[in-house]
Amino acid sequence: MKNYDVIIVGAGAAGLSAALYSTRRKLSTLVLSRDLGGQTATTMDIENYPGVDFSTGPDLMSRFAKQAQKFGAEIRLEGVTKIDKAENGFVLLGELGEEYHAKALILAFGKSHRHLDVPGETEFMNKGVVYCATCDAPLFEGKTVAVVGGGNSAMDAVILLSKIASKIYLIHRRNEFRAEEILIDRVKADSKIELVLNSTVQEIKGDQFVNAVRVITPTGPKELPVEGVFVEVGQQIFTDFVKDLVQLNDAGEIMVDNFNQTSCSGLFAAGDVTIVPFKQTVISAGEGAKAALAAYNYLQGRHPGDRFADQGYIK
Ligand code: NAP
Repeated sequence: MKNYDVIIVGAGAAGLSAALYSTRRKLSTLVLSRDLGGQTATTMDIENYPGVDFSTGPDLMSRFAKQAQKFGAEIRLEGVTKIDKAENGFVLLGELGEEYHAKALILAFGKSHRHLDVPGETEFMNKGVVYCATCDAPLFEGKTVAVVGGGNSAMDAVILLSKIASKIYLIHRRNEFRAEEILIDRVKADSKIELVLNSTVQEIKGDQFVNAVRVITPTGPKELPVEGVFVEVGQQIFTDFVKDLVQLNDAGEIMVDNFNQTSCSGLFAAGDVTIVPFKQTVISAGEGAKAALAAYNYLQGRHPGDRFADQGYIK
């Protein structure tokens, strides 16, 4: 079994930022994650990370990873299937069968793509049905596609696809979007994008690949001829495997306090997997840093928020 001071589960903004802060406190640090970069890496244009005028999501996350590695963080692309509380820490079982021991643990594995759960979605997955515009948009050059959703991810997807596809239907179940106004304005001004509002996807159809999407609109059912369906309807949380270890809220998010402590001593959590509001890269990065500093204090035998005690912060 390999031993570390800190293991971080997840390599998105929260996990990689935690790794940076943990290694700079000279804690031996392992990051375990199925992918690198989390949700930010699936975002094409990042214009709201302070200090960075513009970056693609993958590029920003690769810089996060390199910075953490520069200070000694070990990053392994391996998911975690089981976590047990053990003497003096935690034992984690990796997907490749390896066991790891950590004195302190930070959970930062974010959320996963939500599905539409309509006929044809599973059948045509990766045959026209995709969940990551940044990764898959180039495959749809010159084609007609549909994007489903009304949040920032959907807007990012249509803005990106407008440079690649020939026509884009944006299908949303309401007539109001929850995305940032600046993105909505760009979408509304783009003549390649046709809004299909107050409408829900009923079925994704095709032969070997997607060739249409059936939508229920206010004026009745319609079949839109598309070769791709980008499902951008938000994220789902998968915290079932830690539910006996930490307290979750009704939405399955991990409950944390101001110092990113969970209900289990020595176990911290950060980013989208937690109850933190406003799921944004910059917020996750800050939360990851906070969790690592709190874990450091914990390993020193101090209260996780000790550093702030003399600055008037409430413990
Ligand atoms: P989101 O904000 O939760 O939006 C999901 C959208 O999908 C909503 O419009 C929702 O409709 C719709 N939806 C949910 N379930 C659906 C279903 N079963 N069928 C049809 N439509 C469904 O998710 P997101 O856009 O992925 O964003 C997640 C978080 O990441 C947000 O906090 C967002 O700000 C952040 N993010 C930020 C950026 C950026 O800053 N550039 C980029 C991407 C993501 P309703 O509106 O009717 O609920």
